Amino acid sequence: MPTDPAATSERRADLERRLGAVRARITAASREAGRDRVPELIVVTKFFPDADVRLLQELGVRDVGENRDQEAASKATELADLDLAWHFIGQLQGNKAKSVVRYATALHSLDRSSLVTALGKATTRENQGREDAGLPRRAALTTLVQVDLRDDAQREAADPGVGRGGALPADVLQLADLVAETEGLELGGVMAVAPLGAPPASAFERLASIAADVREAHPGANWISAGMSHDLEQAIAAGATHLRVGSDVLGPRPPVL
Ligand SMILES: *Cc1c(COP(=O)(O)O)cnc(C)c1O
Repeated sequence: MPTDPAATSERRADLERRLGAVRARITAASREAGRDRVPELIVVTKFFPDADVRLLQELGVRDVGENRDQEAASKATELADLDLAWHFIGQLQGNKAKSVVRYATALHSLDRSSLVTALGKATTRENQGREDAGLPRRAALTTLVQVDLRDDAQREAADPGVGRGGALPADVLQLADLVAETEGLELGGVMAVAPLGAPPASAFERLASIAADVREAHPGANWISAGMSHDLEQAIAAGATHLRVGSDVLGPRPPVL
């Protein structure tokens, strides 16, 4: 990790420039779409070091996203002195629920009912522990249902090991109801990743219509988490409220191991 001050200031300037460019794209796309509210930017810091997160915080970033519990937990602990909101955006195993509820303010990747149960239990236990220690309860975990927007052909063609995750559209409302009635969780809305090899605009339109159905049943659940580095403009046009942008802010990620 570069502790060399010259390397740090160079990295800082690099992040500032990239962040500025992404913010400019967001402003332009919001204006183009005639939106009066600019969506929130969540900077996805996965695979990048604590030092980068610290620099981003100094540059005004408040929301950061991570997709692996071990890495996220370690960063949240190391950077506990910073005023940051941690968004968990990756597939989550039930046995990691206990860990995630300790640092995350939002979970974007709820994809099955067993995970609702695990998160509900974890928040109850966490709050019990905090109460016993004389600490205040945690705020409810904002929970988004992740939607699998692939069509049947795309799902069949996909390598089963690299599913992009998410609940089938037909199951979303039921999962949303379940989240809404679980203590310790607050239904935030929906999230999706545009399927590979198809135009993102139509995928995001489908997501917007699912989001509207969810809002009809749960008026407060108004988050639409959509849009990454390469498709944030299309997501903004379709009404995204939260963008998850990694590489266009931080640079290319090291290859996934
Ligand atoms: C990594 C990741 C992102 C950010 O992707 P970029 O293309 O680097 O902007 C967004 N959403 C999810 C779910 C991710 O895993």
